[in-house]
Amino acid sequence: MNSELATQYQSLWVRVQARLKFSCGEAVYRSWLQHLVLAEVEGNMVSIHVPTRFIREWVMSHYLNEILAACKQEMPQLMHLDVRVKPATTNVTTLQQKPVEEKLLLPTVLPAKQDLDDMPSGAVLDPRYRFSSFVVDKSNELAFAAAQRVAESPEVIPGCNPLFLYGGVGLGKTHLMHAIGWHIRAHNPKRKVMYLSAEKFMYQFISALRQRDIMTFKEQFRGVDVLMIDDVQFICGKDSTQEEFFHTFNALIDQNKQLVISCDRSPSDLEEMEERVRSRLGWGLVADINATTYELRLGVLQMKCEQIKVSVPKDVLEFLARKIPSNIRELEGALNKVVAHSHLIGRQITLESTQDILSDLLRAKSRAVTIEDIQKRVAEHCNIRISDMHSARRARQVARPRQMAMYLSKKLTTSSLPEIGRQFGGKDHTTVLHAVRKVEELISQDRIIAEDIRLLTRILES
Ligand code: ADP
Ligand code: MG
Repeated sequence: MNSELATQYQSLWVRVQARLKFSCGEAVYRSWLQHLVLAEVEGNMVSIHVPTRFIREWVMSHYLNEILAACKQEMPQLMHLDVRVKPATTNVTTLQQKPVEEKLLLPTVLPAKQDLDDMPSGAVLDPRYRFSSFVVDKSNELAFAAAQRVAESPEVIPGCNPLFLYGGVGLGKTHLMHAIGWHIRAHNPKRKVMYLSAEKFMYQFISALRQRDIMTFKEQFRGVDVLMIDDVQFICGKDSTQEEFFHTFNALIDQNKQLVISCDRSPSDLEEMEERVRSRLGWGLVADINATTYELRLGVLQMKCEQIKVSVPKDVLEFLARKIPSNIRELEGALNKVVAHSHLIGRQITLESTQDILSDLLRAKSRAVTIEDIQKRVAEHCNIRISDMHSARRARQVARPRQMAMYLSKKLTTSSLPEIGRQFGGKDHTTVLHAVRKVEELISQDRIIAEDIRLLTRILES
C-alpha cells in the first residue's frame, strides 16, 4: 500500500474511533473499542484486528452495529466488516508499519464538535423504516398518529411524555421509532435523538458498573432531546438495570425531554416491574398496535412490491395476506422468499409456484390454531354467541365457555396472557390467568368439563 493511502486510512480510522467513543461512551470505548485496529480496506469490506478472542466475541455481540455505523459514516460504500483475532505483538500490518508520528494529523482529522453532535447515537436507524413506508389502518392508527406528532413537534407535547407504544411481535413498533428518528433528523436536526434497545441499555449499564464509570453512562443521555428505548420488557425483573432506567427516565422527564418507549405489553401488564416504574411509564400517551387486519397485510405487501420494484400477481398477494396473518415480519419474509426464488430460477411468480415455495411454512401455519378458531368452536359447542367471547357478561352460561376458550388459547397457541386478554375484548391478563387456573381445577373435578375440553382440543388440533 502506498504511504499516502496508508495515511489516509490512518486518519480515517482516527475519525471512526472518535465516533465510536462518542456513540458508545468513553468507558466502553476504553475497555473494548480502542483495541480495534484497522487492518485493511478492500472494496466494500473492512477488516479489523482485535488482540484477543474474548474481545472479538464481546465486540461482535455487543457493538457490531455501532462499529458498522461509524465506519459507514466515513466510508459510505462499506458493506461488510471482518473482525479477526491478531495478538497485539504480531499485529504489524501495513497500516501499523507506517510511522504514525510522521503524518498522524490527529488534531485536524478529529471531527469537529459540530459533526459529533450531529451523529446518530445509540443504535443505527434502518433507512427502510420511515413514516412514508408505514401502512396505516385502524389497528395501528393511534400509534402512527402519536408517533408522527412526537416527531413533528419541536418540543415535548404535554400528555405525550412518555409515548408508550405497545403491541405483539412484528407489528411495527421498531419501525415507528426509527421513523420518528429519521423525521427529526431531517426536519429538526438540532434536536438530538437517541435510539437504543433496552437490551443495549442494560449492557452499557453493566459495563459501566464494571468499569466503575456510571458517570459516563449517564453523561451520554445528557445532551439528548428525544430518547427512544425499544423493547423495554427486556429489563423487567433485572433489578439494578430497572432502577437505573427509572432514574434516567425520571431525570429526562424532569428536564422536559421527550421519551418514547416500546414494549410487547401495556405498562400495567409489566408484572415484574416495580409498581412506581410501571405507573410512571403509563403517565403519558399509551398507544397500542393491535393484531393486523387482512387489508393492512395486503396494503403492506403492495407497498413492499412497489419498493422493491417487482410486480407480483394480485392473487398471490391476496393468498399471502390470507395465509400469513400472524405478523408483518413473517409476511415480508414470505414475500421475499417468493420473489428471491423466482429471480433465482428466472420464472414468473404464480399462485402455484408460491404455494409450492411456501409449502413448509404453510403446513406449519395450517396446523397452528388461532384464538379466533378457538372462540368459534367453543361458542358453537356451548351454544353461545361468538360476541359473548368478547363481552364482560358474568352470567355462568357465558362466563364458563369464555374461560374454557381462554384456557384452550393458552394451551394451544403461543399467545401470551396479555395477548389472549386483548383478543377476549380487552381483558386483563390476570383475568386470563384466573380462567386458566379455574379450568385446570374444573378438569380435575368435573368429568363433563374434562370431556368437553378433551373433545374441543381434538377438534381444534385436527
Ligand atoms: P416490532 O418492533 O413491533 O416487533 P417491527 O417494527 O420490527 O416490529 O416490524 C417488523 C417488520 O414489519 C418490519 O420490516 C416493518 O417494516 C414491517 N412493518 C410492520 N408494520 C408495518 C406497517 N404498518 N407498514 C409497513 N411495514 C410494517
Ligand atoms: Mg421491535
